Amino acid sequence: LSQHCIFCRIVRGEIPSRIVYENESVVAFRDTDPRAPTHVLVVPRVHVGSVGELEDPAVAGHLVLAARRVAEATGIAESGYRLVLNTGADAGQSVHHIHLHVLGGRPMTWPPG
Ligand code: AMP
Repeated sequence: LSQHCIFCRIVRGEIPSRIVYENESVVAFRDTDPRAPTHVLVVPRVHVGSVGELEDPAVAGHLVLAARRVAEATGIAESGYRLVLNTGADAGQSVHHIHLHVLGGRPMTWPPG
């Protein structure tokens, strides 16, 4: 499972990524298909497939707090940003390792598409 998971492989350093923040619990790296001037993915080091498989509240907390650090490090904290957790087919989740999108650097529309 985690052996072939692309985000587990990024966490292990087996696939290159542009890391902007990391700590003992999470790694945050640039999305390769950015949808905003700042588009970073925050992933837990442990493999959790999606919000639908999330059990440990500490994982959720680490993701959100790391997103704050990402926003500060990338200069979007003042202007604002959006956090997105696509979950399942209708939301278009394409990688089955939970990832918190941090999007900013431009105004966002609401509701999202
Ligand atoms: P989602 O559609 O919410 O599952 O988001 C998956 C995201 O992962 C997409 O925005 C992809 O562009 C991004 N992505 C896929 N592979 C990589 C990779 N190797 N490095 C960085 N981002 C990736």
